[in-house]
Amino acid sequence: MKSILKNTISSNKKYTSNGKVASYIPELKKANQDDLGICIIDKNNNMYCAGDYNKKFTIQSISKPIVLALALMDNEWEYVFSKVGMEPSGDPFNSIMKLETNDTKKPCNPMINAGAIATTALIKGKDLQEKEERMISFFRKLAKNDSLQINEDVYKSEKLTGDRNRAMGYLLKNDGFIEGDVEEVLDLYFKQCSIEIDTVDLARIGLLFANYGIDMETGERIISEDISRMVKTFMVTCGMYDASGEFALKVGIPAKSGVGGGIMASVPKRMGIGVFGPALDKKGNSIAGLKILEDLSKKLELNIF
Ligand code: GLN
Repeated sequence: MKSILKNTISSNKKYTSNGKVASYIPELKKANQDDLGICIIDKNNNMYCAGDYNKKFTIQSISKPIVLALALMDNEWEYVFSKVGMEPSGDPFNSIMKLETNDTKKPCNPMINAGAIATTALIKGKDLQEKEERMISFFRKLAKNDSLQINEDVYKSEKLTGDRNRAMGYLLKNDGFIEGDVEEVLDLYFKQCSIEIDTVDLARIGLLFANYGIDMETGERIISEDISRMVKTFMVTCGMYDASGEFALKVGIPAKSGVGGGIMASVPKRMGIGVFGPALDKKGNSIAGLKILEDLSKKLELNIF
């Protein structure tokens, strides 16, 4: 396995030069375009890593399935889905368009920015500080890593430049999909996106969803089976934004990407995978990361279909 991963990294490294690191959040420009790493943790808790597997980067949109799980644990599901839909949007992750053109104006799903902002608003807590503490402790619990922290520079950079997300937040509030203070919701959203992780953390979280919410090592149930299933289903239908169909066809694994260059994949009952490659394609997915997952899906027969 170790040599398969090493070879996959070296054969796909060339694709990193075809992509670009995210620049619309200024702090993300500092990423190294050539970085590429992977970590797999299987159901027997064997860990295999290669390349830049332990470099830190921000989780960005991979926070969306995690916050969705928390929102579904904190609220009645009917209430959650009265605020956010269940359908792929077919639009870029930061599109605002369907908030106007959809009949209901409801954000399409929790994996795109508009839907994720609505989901973040559902995290329970008496004030922003308590919500933030609950949010970060949930990430730490899923990753089994108490040292996870918010990258303050990325958080500030995003808060300063996130006017498109701000616009969506105010539309969502106007149309009844967010209750409470929009700036507080956005603050929490920017913070969840700025949590710093590595591929090991992603593989660990991916494994938990793969194992239907039970911690493999301790047997502890952390997320219900139904919620784990829902999260993986959203990852299949919407996890790679408007490239989700192509990814399902070529790779066939529930996965979620982020503009920090991460991809978290969850192979039901088998393994969690974390990939990192900050050079992105036009749709905001890690360009070499996609290739790596395509290769591994074939080599290790991971396609769930
Ligand atoms: N924080 C990013 C944003 O809101 C997340 C987007 C992403 O990773 N696709 O724009």
